[in-house]
Amino acid sequence: MFLTPREPDRLAVVLRRLHEAEVPFEFLGAGSNLLVADEGPSFVVIASEGFDEEPNILGDRVRVGAGYPAPKLVKRLVKAGLSGIEFAEGIPGSVGGCVRMNAGWHEGAFGNAVAEVACIARHGAIESIVPDPETFAYRKSPGLDGGS
Ligand SMILES: Cc1cc2nc3c(=O)[nH]c(=O)nc-3n(C[C@H](O)[C@H](O)[C@H](O)COP(=O)(O)OP(=O)(O)OC[C@H]3O[C@@H](n4cnc5c(N)ncnc54)[C@H](O)[C@@H]3O)c2cc1C
Repeated sequence: MFLTPREPDRLAVVLRRLHEAEVPFEFLGAGSNLLVADEGPSFVVIASEGFDEEPNILGDRVRVGAGYPAPKLVKRLVKAGLSGIEFAEGIPGSVGGCVRMNAGWHEGAFGNAVAEVACIARHGAIESIVPDPETFAYRKSPGLDGGS
């Protein structure tokens, strides 16, 4: 089963029900860091592509959906005169995938740019996490490793 939710509230309901029914599920961003077995996944796949609304720029803070492509975000921010994640111009991931993987390059990593993450825990609770940039590491996003 492949789900492409567009509304956080509805995704929260779906996650709660999957959790209660003990149905396994995993999240999918742009799929650029995944290898999928030929026989396909044995769990429900929840894609973030529906959360791709245009970034909302408020001064030097930007609110952007998990499904928005990271390279496109870099272009939008440069156009708006903002800097900080130019290293991601060539990383073919979604914003959600890049936060989860702490994607980066020599010049920096996503963890340094994340101020707050609105996410939905695996059991369906809508949460807001303010991660400590110091705790991000290679492919690690503490506090976010189990959610979306
Ligand atoms: C050509 C190429 C170049 C690359 N260059 C770089 C590079 O320079 N630096 C670098 O760090 N990486 C690089 N990568 C790897 C990859 O692009 C990054 O890891 C990127 O962050 C993955 O994002 P994604 O959206 O494709 O995630 P996916 O591959 O879809 O998922 C990766 C992991 O994140 C989880 N995930 C994804 N979205 C969410 C979400 N919304 N909520 C919760 N969990 C989620 C998935 O479950 C999975 O565990 C490269 C890959 C390719 C193919």
